[in-house]
Amino acid sequence: MDNYTKGANLRSAVATLTGAYLRHGPQLELERCPHCAVARPTLTQLWHIQTADHSGQIKWHWANYVCSSCGRISLAVSRENEAQPIVEIWPQPNEVSDLIPERARDFLRQAIASIHAPAGAVMLAASAVDAMLKAKGYKDGNLFPRIEKAAADHAITREMALWAHDIRLDANSQRHADENAPLPNEADANRVIEFASALAQFMFVLPAQVEEGRRGAIADAAS
Ligand SMILES: [Zn+2]
Repeated sequence: MDNYTKGANLRSAVATLTGAYLRHGPQLELERCPHCAVARPTLTQLWHIQTADHSGQIKWHWANYVCSSCGRISLAVSRENEAQPIVEIWPQPNEVSDLIPERARDFLRQAIASIHAPAGAVMLAASAVDAMLKAKGYKDGNLFPRIEKAAADHAITREMALWAHDIRLDANSQRHADENAPLPNEADANRVIEFASALAQFMFVLPAQVEEGRRGAIADAAS
């Protein structure tokens, strides 16, 4: 397997969560629309095109799909031709990896599904963060001190701990403290979900992918 193909396989991980490679077709079979997050969306192919790099060696098959619910377009690309697995989608689908512990995964899925009820989505995403920290042994006390402790232990990066303070993770307690504080809006909810997703990537998904890559490298070296 050449290095490029390996990279493409890693990047297709998002599409393979259901156990099957995602491919082009009259419909793009995603669990949720990458834009509006509606479940089981009808994403219909509008057009497709094939391109190649300057040498003509690396070929791409591009297709775009319109969501019948929100009317927005997603772009998907595969190597070579339309029969090959899709390696990337824009915007990136907000799918939740099975590599994330079950409780955190359920909270994160529900947060994404309730993006149109932002106050609820923020609470669900905060619960996902709480469950991820608990899964790594950070069990006691409020969310922020536990995030700080995880950063001090290098379980997450310092930047992630700083990021946690820039979003409305604690929207619930803020509201109790200040009755005039506005409810979280959809942008707030998106930021909290983005943070929870990044945390899940860093704590659970990337380590598993790196381990898989290492096993592949060892197997290649042995063959
Ligand atoms: Zn949509």
